[in-house]
Amino acid sequence: MNIHQQTLPDGGRAKTKDYEKRRNLGSAGKLIGEQRILCVFVDDDGSSPWTLDIRSTVQDHVQRSLRWLEGQAANRGIELRIQHALAPNGMSVGCHAGCHINEIDECAGPHHSGWQNTVVVRITGYGKVSEGWAAMFTSHGLSLDASDGSAMLFFVRRLVPSIAFPYKAGEHDEFELERGIIYDLGGVIDGQRHLDSLIAHELLHLYGAVDLKPGKAPSGVSPELCLDPDEVMNFPTQHEITGYRINELTEYLIGWRDADPVVK
Ligand SMILES: [Zn+2]
Repeated sequence: MNIHQQTLPDGGRAKTKDYEKRRNLGSAGKLIGEQRILCVFVDDDGSSPWTLDIRSTVQDHVQRSLRWLEGQAANRGIELRIQHALAPNGMSVGCHAGCHINEIDECAGPHHSGWQNTVVVRITGYGKVSEGWAAMFTSHGLSLDASDGSAMLFFVRRLVPSIAFPYKAGEHDEFELERGIIYDLGGVIDGQRHLDSLIAHELLHLYGAVDLKPGKAPSGVSPELCLDPDEVMNFPTQHEITGYRINELTEYLIGWRDADPVVK
């Protein structure tokens, strides 16, 4: 298998029937102002451990992704500054989840909070992601005091579809603190070539964006909004981040415009 050329879809598990349900909610509410993203590198029983070299290739993609999002905002006259940090720091490169992280046995979704809590306990001493949220950010140099929003991305060394868990009304309060999982082997040879685009796609999910592809978009999204292969929420992401666009529905869902373009 030539995984260097493989780009994976995200499996559609973030799909919702109502594209409004998660708009501007949770810790990753509107993608404006001062935002903080913490990238947590996780080892597990099913993967080779992260190394500094491999982690640095992923950080390059994170940088490109965040700078692209800031540039897209600036082009629209929107102030956006995204600070990010990598965790864990110090001597450790990855934090072990204490288990095998599995996307195959229907354990996607809130079930992931178990190993995520383990990781947070090992890094901060707090018992849950929700309890240790601020400590995770501040202990890695990101103060949340002046931030308008925050999100956590867990990076796991495996090539399966990545997934985002945007908060929506009616969910347990724990998930107001929004997180996603980026699966990637890392490295120049083994990682996904367009990881920068995938990271932007999953982050935009956390800020309210929905998949824009015929048959995958939530009900109520007009089909003509799903036809642009270069819209970053059309997936799978197939090329480098600089070739992508953000359309008016994504703008609306992430808080960059007030009027819903679907409802005229
Ligand atoms: Zn998606």
